[in-house]
This record gives sequence, structure tokens and C-alpha cells, in this order.
Amino acid sequence: MRELDNIKSFLKNYDGPDIKIMEVCGTHTAAIMHLGIPSMLSEHIRLISGPGCPVCVTVTAYIDKLVTLAMNPSNIIYAFGDLLRVMGSQKSLSMAKADGARVRMVYSPLDMLDAAEKDPEHTHIFAAVGFETTTPVYALLLEEAARRKIRNIKLLTSLKTMPAVIDRLCRANDTNGGSRITGFIAPGHVCAVSGYAAYRMLADKYRLPFVVSGFTGETLLASIYTLVKSAGEPLVRNYYPQVVREEGNMAAQEAVLRIFRPCDAAWRGLGVIAGSGMVLRKEYENLDAGSENLIEDRTGTGCRCADVLTGKILPEECPMFGRACTPREPKGACMVSQEGSCFNHFTAAGIRS
Ligand code: SF4
Repeated sequence: MRELDNIKSFLKNYDGPDIKIMEVCGTHTAAIMHLGIPSMLSEHIRLISGPGCPVCVTVTAYIDKLVTLAMNPSNIIYAFGDLLRVMGSQKSLSMAKADGARVRMVYSPLDMLDAAEKDPEHTHIFAAVGFETTTPVYALLLEEAARRKIRNIKLLTSLKTMPAVIDRLCRANDTNGGSRITGFIAPGHVCAVSGYAAYRMLADKYRLPFVVSGFTGETLLASIYTLVKSAGEPLVRNYYPQVVREEGNMAAQEAVLRIFRPCDAAWRGLGVIAGSGMVLRKEYENLDAGSENLIEDRTGTGCRCADVLTGKILPEECPMFGRACTPREPKGACMVSQEGSCFNHFTAAGIRS
């Protein structure tokens, strides 16, 4: 307890060189804002959110493709709730549903299997969005479908992996001068599956510290403390050892590689990043609902999600934050998702939507 008090005092009174820490994971963003951690830090320590909210980094072309598939009466689309409200270039899945499309919100991809088995007349398509944490579930879904001989299912994939996008951010960092990121809170849930060996390579390559963190206030403050103390040092620490091992969850990794293979992927605000995604392996391509070449990233609303996702601005610095853009009337994906930076900053500020 005394150690925690010392950490809090250090972080509140820190007056050294400016520190900019990126929390990559959307769940960390939500925890940090919910716990009021920014108010516990000196003005010289700034926390910024990264591209770790899967809905937020999904490009417009993917939403447009889902809407097109949904408008085909042969199809039924399944998605997690947040995705339904993200705007494509013309409409969201919710709007498509209001126009008569068959769109169902589910809590697990496995919910789709029973429905598909009972309804062979339709093609049941899951909007397979997510990071390393979710991809094993899609792999299990397809293996279970094969076991039960359910053939009327497909995935529209927008699956991403973290190391390549963090590498891109670190590379851009070298040209950012005084506002460069000085350390990363590495994604706890992602590392539970993938491990954190990749972050050792990034730490050495860019001479930056990475701390794999859990989600409690104590752990997050300890992570921030280590990142402040170690700015400019190639360091990796695991402060989530109950869940995360260096090698990750090998069974989950093997399940993923039985079904998926690495690919280049398009990220909202970052463009196409080599080796940053997963698609179905050749032998499963017949289960793909058309995921290839969905790279266009266009909102046309003045939304600055791209700058938020890359840590260039805080959500409050977007002119539409809390005015034209609220969770009730979101203009961008970062205000839709409960893991989105804009949503969490808005909620933490107690602004009425
Ligand atoms: Fe986009 Fe709204 Fe966030 Fe601005 S506040 S960046 S419009 S989601």
C-alpha cells in the first residue's frame, strides 16, 4: 500500500521531460477513463489511445460490403452490437436493418451456428472483426461448423494483429520530434493469446519500453510508473502474469493457424499495413464472403478518428467532440464503440448525450 502511495505521489508530482504513453488496447482505454487515471498524473505525463479498438479501426469499405451483403435477401448478417451503428459511406448495418435487411446482433460467433443449422435456405454471414483475442473464436466456429456439417455459413473478415501496427506507429514516432510516444502499455488480452515476445523485438528496435498490463487501477498505475521511469530504454515487463505468459496461449495460436493465414490489412487512419491481418487459408476460401480488397477508408464527415487512433490528438481536440458527435449521434467509429477513445472520454467527462 505504501508503495502504491509512493507511485501515486511520483506520478502526480513528476516534473521531468514530457512523457507520452500510448495504451494500445481499447479495454485499457475504458479502464483508464473509468478509474480517472488521467487526473492522477502530472501535466507532463500524457496518456493517448492507440488503434486497439477493433470496431474503430475497421475501414468504411468493410462496412459498405456488410451493408451490401445484408441487402441481399439470401443472406443473414450476424455482428457484435457496436459494429451495427458504425457508418459506412452511405449507411450503417442498423440502417440496413431498418430498410428490411436481415441483421442480427449476437454476443458470440457461436450463436450463429444453431440458427444456420435450422435455416439452410439462407447464407449466414458473421462480421468477423477483431484482434488476436477474438480470432481463435472464429477458428473454433468454423471447426465446429465442419464437425456438424453446417455448410451455409461464411465470414466477412477484418481480422487484425497488433505487432505490425505498433511497428508502424514506432516508425512514425521517429519523425514526431518533441511529441513522440515514449512508451507503450501493451495490450493485456491480446498478449494472453499471442504472448509478448514480439514486443521485445519492438522494444529493442525502437529503444522504447513496453509494459503488459492488467486492468486494475494499481496495475495500470504501476505500468505507467515503470514507463515514465524507463522512457528511452528498451524494456519489456509483464504486470499481468496471472493471465499472460511470454509464449502466449499455444493452443489458441495453433487453432488460428489451422484456419487463417497472415495477410496485409487496411486500418482506419493508417492505410494498408503489411502482415497486420489474418484471412482464411486457401482451403477455406469458399467460406469467405468477399473480404479481399476492402481497403477504402472514407467517412466524409470531418471525423478525426484517424488522428485519435494514431495519438495525434485527444478526442477533446476534435471540433465535433461532445457537440455534433456524441454516443447518441456518433459521427465516427471511435464514438460508437464502448472501447472507443472518444466514447470513453465523453463518458468520463459526464457529458449528457
Ligand atoms: Fe470522430 Fe466523433 Fe471522435 Fe471527432 S469526436 S474523432 S467526429 S468519433
